[in-house]
Amino acid sequence: MFIIFGNKGREVTENTGQFNCPNCCAQQNITGDEKQHQYTQIKVAKYFTLFFIPIFDYKTLGRYIKCQHCNTDYNEKVLDYIPPTFEQQVASYIEQELKSGTPISMLVNKLKSQGLDNDQATSAVDNVVSGNIVTCHNCNMDFLKGVEKCSLCEGRIGN
Ligand SMILES: [Zn+2]
Ligand SMILES: [Zn+2]
Repeated sequence: MFIIFGNKGREVTENTGQFNCPNCCAQQNITGDEKQHQYTQIKVAKYFTLFFIPIFDYKTLGRYIKCQHCNTDYNEKVLDYIPPTFEQQVASYIEQELKSGTPISMLVNKLKSQGLDNDQATSAVDNVVSGNIVTCHNCNMDFLKGVEKCSLCEGRIGN
């Protein structure tokens, strides 16, 4: 009779639950609802085997979290991830648009065409701009301070 000892790396599902998958969250559109996805927490461990049957794990090599919806792997810290609220997403979209040179009034119209009402659009933009306005000398369009060139008339902006 002979006995085969060995050791093997194995992946074991330790836990499952709901989490906010950053990848899935990022793919929801701006008006999308927050939806939690199922995850599995997987432990990678070296197992001591006897006749190729895992007996006990003697070394945990690591753990990771896998989203069951998009299959992305994360480290365990992802379970603390809180997705941005709708307001935060809108604000960061506005900031990005303004910094890339979209005139303030055009952005308000753009938001309205995406379903915000006039008050929502205006106050969301005002919150981001908070008075930091520069005006094109040539066509009088308003931009976020820091924009140097008018995207409409190519005119110089600033004092
Ligand atoms: Zn996912
Ligand atoms: Zn201009």
